[in-house]
Amino acid sequence: TKWVYGFGSGANEGSAGMRDLLGGKGANLAEMAAIGLPVPPGFTITTEVCTSFYDNGRTYPAELKAQVDAALHGIEATLGLRFGDPAAPLLVSVRSGARVSMPGMMDTVLNLGLNDSTVEGLAASSGDPRFAWDSYRRFIQMYGSVVLGVSHHRFEDLIEETKRATGVQDDTRLSAEDWQDVVAGYKEIVLRETGAAFPMDPHEQLWGAIGAVFGSWMNPRANTYRRLHDIPASWGTAVNVQAMVFGNMGEDCATGVCFTRDPSTGENVFYGEYLINAQGEDVVAGIRTPQPMSEARARGDEVSMEKALPDAYRELLAVRDILERHYRDMQDIEFTVQGNRLYMLQTRTGKRTAAAALRIAISMAEEGLITHEEAIRRVPPSSLDQLLHPTLDPDAPRTLLSRGLPASPGAAAGAIVFTAEDVEIRAARGEDVILVRIETSPEDVHGMHAARGVLTTRGGMTSHAAVVARGMGRVCVAGAGGIHVDYRARTLSVGGTVLHEGEWITLDGATGEVFAGRVGTIEPTLSGDFSTLMGWADRTRRMKIRANAETPEDAETARHFGAEGIGLCRTEHMFFAPDRIGFVRQMIMAGDDAARTRAIDALLPFQREDFTALFRIMAGLPVTIRLLDPPLHEFLPHGDAELAEVAAALGESVEALAARKAALSESNPMLGHRGCRLGLTYPELYAMQARAIIEAAIAVSGESGQQVVPEIMIPLVGMETELRRTRANVEAVAAGVVAAAGVVLEYSIGTMIELPRAALTADRIAQDADFFSFGTNDLTQTTFGLSRDDAGTFMPFYLEYDLIPRDPFISIDQEGVGQLVAMGVEKGRRTKPGLKLGVCGEHGGDPASIAFFESVGLDYVSCSPFRVPIARLAAAQAAL
Ligand code: ADP
Ligand code: MG
Ligand code: MG
Repeated sequence: TKWVYGFGSGANEGSAGMRDLLGGKGANLAEMAAIGLPVPPGFTITTEVCTSFYDNGRTYPAELKAQVDAALHGIEATLGLRFGDPAAPLLVSVRSGARVSMPGMMDTVLNLGLNDSTVEGLAASSGDPRFAWDSYRRFIQMYGSVVLGVSHHRFEDLIEETKRATGVQDDTRLSAEDWQDVVAGYKEIVLRETGAAFPMDPHEQLWGAIGAVFGSWMNPRANTYRRLHDIPASWGTAVNVQAMVFGNMGEDCATGVCFTRDPSTGENVFYGEYLINAQGEDVVAGIRTPQPMSEARARGDEVSMEKALPDAYRELLAVRDILERHYRDMQDIEFTVQGNRLYMLQTRTGKRTAAAALRIAISMAEEGLITHEEAIRRVPPSSLDQLLHPTLDPDAPRTLLSRGLPASPGAAAGAIVFTAEDVEIRAARGEDVILVRIETSPEDVHGMHAARGVLTTRGGMTSHAAVVARGMGRVCVAGAGGIHVDYRARTLSVGGTVLHEGEWITLDGATGEVFAGRVGTIEPTLSGDFSTLMGWADRTRRMKIRANAETPEDAETARHFGAEGIGLCRTEHMFFAPDRIGFVRQMIMAGDDAARTRAIDALLPFQREDFTALFRIMAGLPVTIRLLDPPLHEFLPHGDAELAEVAAALGESVEALAARKAALSESNPMLGHRGCRLGLTYPELYAMQARAIIEAAIAVSGESGQQVVPEIMIPLVGMETELRRTRANVEAVAAGVVAAAGVVLEYSIGTMIELPRAALTADRIAQDADFFSFGTNDLTQTTFGLSRDDAGTFMPFYLEYDLIPRDPFISIDQEGVGQLVAMGVEKGRRTKPGLKLGVCGEHGGDPASIAFFESVGLDYVSCSPFRVPIARLAAAQAAL
């Protein structure tokens, strides 16, 4: 078996398509080398070795050692250096790299191959002892902490001590001799902490680092991350071994991290940070302040790379172009400059905010880099949510506290909290909180998720906090250096102002500003890129998108977001208003038909008004109105006072009403007297609703010239007989109203398919239905035999232990519930080929469910108004 693939020396054995085998980093290093970019030579040990390692009691395949040796010789031959050569040693980095980038894995070890004798060789061959000893101490520090498990504080403390003793502030000011002392101290620390001397044999070092990478695949942090992100343990990680290039060799050297476009806004500008005379993670570690790439972005005493290293900068600009053309997407790249020469160390598809994803997709399509279809595919539908989030109201009064970097856009206000744990506790209580940290690490991710926003006082635009917050759409201001955080006192101070835990601040992630207290926000606009993409999506999708709405405000919102109708108007919501609920209670509690009719007649004008308003807003678009559905007990009077009120209105005794209320109580209301069962036993109720709908439709059709086509929907049908009888009742009223008005009005009568029996007998039910709307919420409850309101006690357990892949109330269970939907579609259309089919309920706004509904051929999905844009895009992606 081939376990090792070389890149950058001789043949490039890998390519970008080999991500599964080589991991993302290895595959892209090979790809970059193959297209002629300057990549230091190296090799990738495949993810299959990782799998084999764990399948065989943490041992390596027999041929591995020989293959690694051969690959190492390849690098040596290419560079004319030897690994372990005391005169001019080859040094390597050892880098982990799974298929998807994964925090929690082993950190990179740089400068591997240094020891007490090769460091002298490096000093001699480079002519720079300071550089050689700096590299050596970095190596011991990294290897000591990530491979040998020595706490990195031990090492950092010694550097601080040395700086204090020598009176310098900046690491770069320490001399060769200082670093030599640090190295001696480091070796003592390793001996003391591990009980063994730091390994001097480069091969032992190499295998130690390789073993640590594979070992880290199963460490608790990586396991947690995998579980949270559905990454199978069987994927394994690759190990990349690569010849070192040195960004820390002097003033013509540098290291940097950049994005080919702005990952915050998506603007087509080169974007990133670099540091002169630095190595590896220095840029993100926050030890020195990273500098901007382009001169245009340099402010104050900042020195841009464009100015400091013009040749390497020009070369990097060319690489930026080549990479974007090649990958046809925004790239996140890592590079090092050694002696004015550029070396590429990593490229991957860059993480971006929702706004940037949109901007990049649209502009790349306009630049001709990608097609409209690809642009549609590039924007994750659920990310649109972020674009619908508020920004600070420019006119709102505010008190600026401090300023940091605009790391992730949006505006957020909340109480100050200093630990991820506290965020979770307060967020669980429904509080808005802002996580404030000096800097964040992977352990903080759960807290970042639960917070409204994140504020850090250290780190740049590519710091952990910035990258993670952008990925999850949290507002983030990073590196607000003017703010001092005291974890112990639980305070945040700026100048003379001290804020305690629990006090409010507001972040503007678009400007990096931090304000005291709560600043007002405004809703986003939906023009520009957003409407362009929506336009492309609308031309691409097959399914229509409707909204679930009953109030005029919801209906307005739905239209504003592009809904093409109302798929579900729940009439029960209209019954709860204070001016109506009394009549509703009288209707339910009435002792005789006359009293009941009086109450129902009182409700008629209210209902007519409701539907009139809705029809006006929807201006001729289809409106599906569901007749009363919930169990009656939901409307019952609660306390004694309410009961007395109803009794007075009905002219009956409180005792009589209390008895009737008791008789109406059910042990399983959700499976009780509700839906069409109500309409059948209280036909006056549905008759009133039907009258209100038809009268409103006639009125609005008359006034606007637009034809209103109401769709009357009968809920909770399980048998064709239920629908037939209810339909006849409703139709008689509707026909009577139309005839009396002397007009022509088209209307349709259909049913929900929300019980398994309805799906199973959909062919029969279709005989009396003009349309079906799959009520997947109830269908999920009744198929699983599981009440949604009670699932909270065990669903988290099911999800954690993988008993179920996703919450079936969020994303439709395609295997089970989906079969019933597919069957309902097939049987319904067999009876009536033109039967109109839709879905209402939470699933109508879930992208994965929408893809499923496209595949079974529904005509439309209906979702909450705020999810309409998401559904429009998801339906377009599903149609591609
Ligand atoms: P991560 O996955 O955490 O980004 P990397 O393996 O990319 O870790 O390494 C982090 C940094 O270490 C790189 O961005 C680069 O600056 C530095 N680095 C890695 N390999 C080399 C190398 N061969 N020469 C110089 N620097 C390197
Ligand atoms: Mg790292
Ligand atoms: Mg990297």
